[in-house]
Amino acid sequence: MPIPAFTRRHFLSATALSAVAPVIASASAPATAAGNAEPSDAILVLRPTRVFKVKDRSHENTESWIVSIAVQTPVPATLEPVALDVELSKDDLVLRRAHYGAEAFAAMTYRSSFAPKLADGRDPPTPLHWPLFLRLRHTEPAAFGTNRMTVAATLKDERGRTIAARVVVPIETYAQATSLVFPFKGKGVVLQAGAANGGHRNRSGQFAIDAMGTDSAWSVCAPGDGKKNSDYPGWGRELVAPAAGVVVALRNDRPDQPVGDSSDPAYFAPEYRKLGGGDPENHLVIDHGHGEFSLLAHFMAGSLRVARGDRVVQGQVLGKLGHSGDTNAPHVHYQLQSGPDWENADALPCRFANVAEEILDRGTFFEAR
Ligand SMILES: [Zn+2]
Repeated sequence: MPIPAFTRRHFLSATALSAVAPVIASASAPATAAGNAEPSDAILVLRPTRVFKVKDRSHENTESWIVSIAVQTPVPATLEPVALDVELSKDDLVLRRAHYGAEAFAAMTYRSSFAPKLADGRDPPTPLHWPLFLRLRHTEPAAFGTNRMTVAATLKDERGRTIAARVVVPIETYAQATSLVFPFKGKGVVLQAGAANGGHRNRSGQFAIDAMGTDSAWSVCAPGDGKKNSDYPGWGRELVAPAAGVVVALRNDRPDQPVGDSSDPAYFAPEYRKLGGGDPENHLVIDHGHGEFSLLAHFMAGSLRVARGDRVVQGQVLGKLGHSGDTNAPHVHYQLQSGPDWENADALPCRFANVAEEILDRGTFFEAR
């Protein structure tokens, strides 16, 4: 039975960090040994703006989180890593300190052309620059109870001047306010999950789930070559509202990918073709209140039964599971996010009241009742 290449580019996984304002940051530029440095005012900017730890599906009782940081400067700069110091704390109790030299620090950084934006997606009032990004992943014993992380970066600019920037990051446990049901009923399997599980890594998708429907014997694909969308038992399954709310964003004008096991960029909306992926295509966002919003994506062409502004109830049929956008096989992409705009919202961890598995990692089979 052919299984599609799920490890390839996938919805939202290709679009990395999106914009945010500096929410927690402090920095100052110490004078160099030569004493001729100008203050550089580099700060460390978090995206997503909040960091939530989640339990791992492991026997070791660990929890994981990822901190994505942009080094932000008021003028263009070429920065090189010098040293990084990370401290984990539970309240005022320091649990552990780690020091990374230049080579190790460099290995955790990357450069990108993302344009700096404010947290809500607006352009900053004065030009800002993000010359360097770092991404820190932690898996720690749950018994640590880590709730704070301090990150102190020492960098060097192109003139050899030292720049120091420090940020204190609350490591939060998310308290989900909305009781959610899974976006489809019946048996399914998770193709890809959140960033700590090696999956979606953009700002609002850190905890996103891609799920295929299976048949009663847990097969994701009928015998055959998997080239037809109808080879997949989940194709056309009803997608339902995970909770009551108001539809605040919606797209319903795009075709499905014609080949069941491939994601052809020719079928992406034009604005995503040049990005090379990340297209949710036919999708909608429901505002549940409490700052919680559901995004469901990749609906079957023309299947959406609701319109922007509609009020929906939990379990109400919204449309059908499809294969539109950047998708390697018919599936639904689901994420809980902090705002209506998926490109400028933070990801929120979520669990479902009608799925027994508390942790839906990649490869988890489940039944939504
Ligand atoms: Zn996805």
